Amino acid sequence: MRSKVYFIAAKDANDISAVNARLQKLLKESNVLNFIRKDDKVAVKLHFGEEGNTGFIRPQHLRVICDGILKLSQKVLLSDANTLYRGKRLNSKDHLALAYAHGFTKAVIGADIFIPDDNKKEDKIDVQINQKFIKTAKIARFFIDADALVAVSHFKGHILTGFGGALKNIGMGCATREGKLAQHCDAAPVVYVDKCIGCGECAAICPVGAIRIENGKSIIDSAKCIGCASCMAACPTMAMFIDIEAGIEVQEKMAEYSLAVLKDKKEKAGFINFALRINQECDCWGMENPRIAPDVGILASADPVSIDKASFDLVNRACGKDIFKLTHPKQDGFKQLEYAQELGLGNLDYDLIEI
Ligand code: SF4
Ligand code: SF4
Repeated sequence: MRSKVYFIAAKDANDISAVNARLQKLLKESNVLNFIRKDDKVAVKLHFGEEGNTGFIRPQHLRVICDGILKLSQKVLLSDANTLYRGKRLNSKDHLALAYAHGFTKAVIGADIFIPDDNKKEDKIDVQINQKFIKTAKIARFFIDADALVAVSHFKGHILTGFGGALKNIGMGCATREGKLAQHCDAAPVVYVDKCIGCGECAAICPVGAIRIENGKSIIDSAKCIGCASCMAACPTMAMFIDIEAGIEVQEKMAEYSLAVLKDKKEKAGFINFALRINQECDCWGMENPRIAPDVGILASADPVSIDKASFDLVNRACGKDIFKLTHPKQDGFKQLEYAQELGLGNLDYDLIEI
């Protein structure tokens, strides 16, 4: 079975007005938002960009998308879940302030923003999926409670998954901090001794008493650790990291988390990928990182697998080579797509409809 992916070329990401005109045309001709019904609570999943990052999708483009949604339902909120790592999106207050600083104000985007709080039980939900790697997914409740989901994703490279698009935005992006840690590794966080100042903040916050301070350094009892990631958020010196080598199945887990987010959203989700400002690394990087491909354009589809595969193909076609493999030779980003198809999330085969 083949899915439809709509594509419109855009050659200069800096020309905001021209990109918006292309985006409007894409929304109109793809009908990608037409699954939204009157009074649907619509969640728009976005990445607002870490402080210092320059690759994130521009707020002016969200205005076009929000205007399109508002014609169908008045109940729209933009959202992203908080991060695992210590940055300006670690807690809801700072995350919201950064979104505003990056220009995502209601005056610009035409809608409000809601950032779920990892410290509030009511903002989190367990979703049973009983898959190979994840039995229970830990998701920000807002995305599950929404009637409709629009994932607006920046397509770019990624250090762990080769590339990141719709599946990354949904699977990793809608997870709570605990869910993000579960996808990155099965083990407890790792303490980098040189950075640890022995302040004890991690031990104080650990809900299961898995951390003790010995000789001025933090020690984690991994047998006790439940992987909640609270200590990572609390550490003032960023002395706690995830063991990337333990995260060898991160792509499969991410696909399973996508399944959890989309579980009750059959025909109630739409995907828009921006293959513009295609950087080597994701928008979590708090700095400008190298462009690896020319601006390609914008894609829309009802299928998260097809849209990521089409984005991957179009970017590589523009580069004349597999640029993601070249920049991240240890990662095979294709794994996330193949496994997502196996899970029934969508199709690798697609028909590209160029507008
Ligand atoms: S991840 Fe959670 S349970 Fe594990 S050591 Fe850190 S605070 Fe404790
Ligand atoms: S919070 Fe960080 S710096 Fe403080 S003891 Fe724990 S690991 Fe060390």
